[in-house]
Amino acid sequence: MSTPFTDEMTVRRHQMVRDQIANRGVRDFRVLEVMRRIPRHEFVAEPYRSQAYGDRPLPIGGGQTISQPYMVAVMTEALSVGRGDRVLDVGSGSGYQTAVLASLAELVVAVEQDPSLVKDAHATLQRVGITNVLMRAGDGSVGAPEHQPFDAILVAAGAPSIPKPLLAQLKDGGRLVVPVGSLSSQRLVIIRRNGDRYVERSGCGCVFVPLVGQHGWEDFGSKMT
Ligand code: SAH
Repeated sequence: MSTPFTDEMTVRRHQMVRDQIANRGVRDFRVLEVMRRIPRHEFVAEPYRSQAYGDRPLPIGGGQTISQPYMVAVMTEALSVGRGDRVLDVGSGSGYQTAVLASLAELVVAVEQDPSLVKDAHATLQRVGITNVLMRAGDGSVGAPEHQPFDAILVAAGAPSIPKPLLAQLKDGGRLVVPVGSLSSQRLVIIRRNGDRYVERSGCGCVFVPLVGQHGWEDFGSKMT
């Protein structure tokens, strides 16, 4: 039985997908369907729940944010995730983007540098019934060497340049999406691996929190020791 509260959230979620995502040009029906289904409001803290379907990022603690819904959709579409895919999600934060990817893929390996976010995201994913995720606390700028290679890799934090280990951990035909630029603004870079060649194209402008760690902005706001 759904409560009036969840029904209200379902209505808002459908409006979010129509107005902010489909109307702005995201066409992949699987991405639209998954984002209509996943309860984004479960991934934000109580005081922000009423804003969960707004057109913006929201605070999730530790100075980090859950990405704007449109950006989640654009990045997911760019990765063309298929049912049998193994996906790496770098900077999994609240776990919302992880949930979207896990609903399209076989398995998602999620790496987040802030251990308290890992704990909360793990609990949220269990609550919403998503089980095909391996969550790890650590530096995702080096990828996840023990779980590679990946069909798709998503980085949800702004990098100064493309982290080299992520290129090496792509399967042949694999895709990578990563925001690259300065600390204050970036552009999405979308890469496809063809054998030893990497075909790169440029996506929309964006503003993400900084990628920290070995291949990020060294020590900028890092929880890592
Ligand atoms: N996809 C998340 C977005 C979170 S914001 C969501 O939908 O909620 C980006 C996240 O990247 C932050 O939680 C930050 O702690 C994390 N991050 C930054 N650098 C990282 C690194 N090197 N390895 C793992 N996580 C990192």
